[in-house]
Amino acid sequence: MSNLDRTPGLTQCGGLAGIAAAPVHELFAGKEVLLGESTQVRRLLPNLGRRLVGSWCFVDHYGPDDIAAGPGMQVPPHPHMGLQTVSWLLDGEVHHRDSLGSEAVIRPGQLGLMTSGYGIVHAEQSPVAHPARLHGVQLWVALPDGSRNAAPAWQHHDALPVVTDTGLAATVIMGSLAGATSPGRAYTPLMGVDVALAAGAESLLPLEPDFEHAVLAMSGWAEVDGVEVTPGSMLYLGCRRRELRVRSEPGSRLLLLGGEPFEEQIVMWWNFVGRSSEEITTAREEWMTGDRFGVVADYDGDPLAAPSMPPGRLKPGGSVR
Ligand code: MN
Repeated sequence: MSNLDRTPGLTQCGGLAGIAAAPVHELFAGKEVLLGESTQVRRLLPNLGRRLVGSWCFVDHYGPDDIAAGPGMQVPPHPHMGLQTVSWLLDGEVHHRDSLGSEAVIRPGQLGLMTSGYGIVHAEQSPVAHPARLHGVQLWVALPDGSRNAAPAWQHHDALPVVTDTGLAATVIMGSLAGATSPGRAYTPLMGVDVALAAGAESLLPLEPDFEHAVLAMSGWAEVDGVEVTPGSMLYLGCRRRELRVRSEPGSRLLLLGGEPFEEQIVMWWNFVGRSSEEITTAREEWMTGDRFGVVADYDGDPLAAPSMPPGRLKPGGSVR
């Protein structure tokens, strides 16, 4: 998916200053954002209080939406650089096409992992004949400096490891949980896990103490280390945890994200992750002139135009809107 905000802010983040070195409970409300004409999403990252969880730098939760009578998701070709996109569905289908010539229909339980490296373009659409419900998350991972100019790549995995306990099924989307490792290629130490809890389930998830972690609820609600988490909010948990107690009365689908704190300072704007506002400005120009990112072959329609850059200079550690 694309950041369709017409006036996206320029945000600098990263570094260890904001990391909670010890376990904490910080419950953040997501921001409601309208994508395009009709799709409402809950943006959990970046958030006013927290921009990164490990190298996870963008988290949108959308749906469940009834798209039976409409076209559903329609995101025209748009560029990315310096990041990976992770597509994860609970319901529905998304048709992915990119400038490498990759084409795939992503379904629930499958990982769509696009590594932009230096630059890639993709389009994401509900297929013409699509299921009535659409529900999922769109996640971005910032690439470290040594990998961010690598060649772009697309991976589609339909068999991910699942860790089970009584009333719990944890699908490892990225990284590892309890010795089970996703085939998705990661460039920094991180993890992303879909935790399905049956009604009345209670369990302990093993965590990597050097990671910081956060949890959001995609459906139902759950108690996470004793704190109630509902859709639309995210609980930041800090570092130094070896395990996490999860419990759900009605049943729930949680998304657990974690990673080694990301030490590099990054600059995020629109669909780009860079290291300076000058680099972002150049990438924007190269998208608009068609000099860098390529095209999605046979796409019927115009690509997304880049929004204007915000006026004013980026201040270190701050953001400009
Ligand atoms: Mn995208």
